[in-house]
Amino acid sequence: MQDFEGLLRGLKLKVTPRRRAILEVMAAGSTFLSPEEIWKKVGEAGTNVGLPTVYRILEELAGGGVVTRVLHDNRQLYYYLCPNKGHHHHFVCLSCHKVEDVDLCLGEALEQEVKLRIQGALFSHILQLQGLCRECREKGGKA
Ligand SMILES: [Zn+2]
Ligand SMILES: [Zn+2]
Ligand SMILES: [Zn+2]
Repeated sequence: MQDFEGLLRGLKLKVTPRRRAILEVMAAGSTFLSPEEIWKKVGEAGTNVGLPTVYRILEELAGGGVVTRVLHDNRQLYYYLCPNKGHHHHFVCLSCHKVEDVDLCLGEALEQEVKLRIQGALFSHILQLQGLCRECREKGGKA
């Protein structure tokens, strides 16, 4: 069980039943979800919330770094709540939407190089690794 209240307080957001319900739904699986999927699951779990509110809350949480935005080749934006904090990256399966942590970052060397080239200030990087997971590849799946 994750400390949702701590997460929300860290973003200076009030702990509301809607925010809580969204985080609970997202924490229940290890796949990335569309706002519509989250909205449906939150409704099924008994919390009444409109789809625009779900969009707004997801963007609040993504802006604060609590949830990760996942970009899909189908251009739909998805969201993922990772239990692991600290800097790492995600492998996302474009077919079954599973997310796996990648505890490997070559970003530091890259950041050093980019800093030299742009001569500006660099704050962070985003890297999304995508493809097919092993099960989907064995099934001959497609993204
Ligand atoms: Zn897969
Ligand atoms: Zn993660
Ligand atoms: Zn990195």
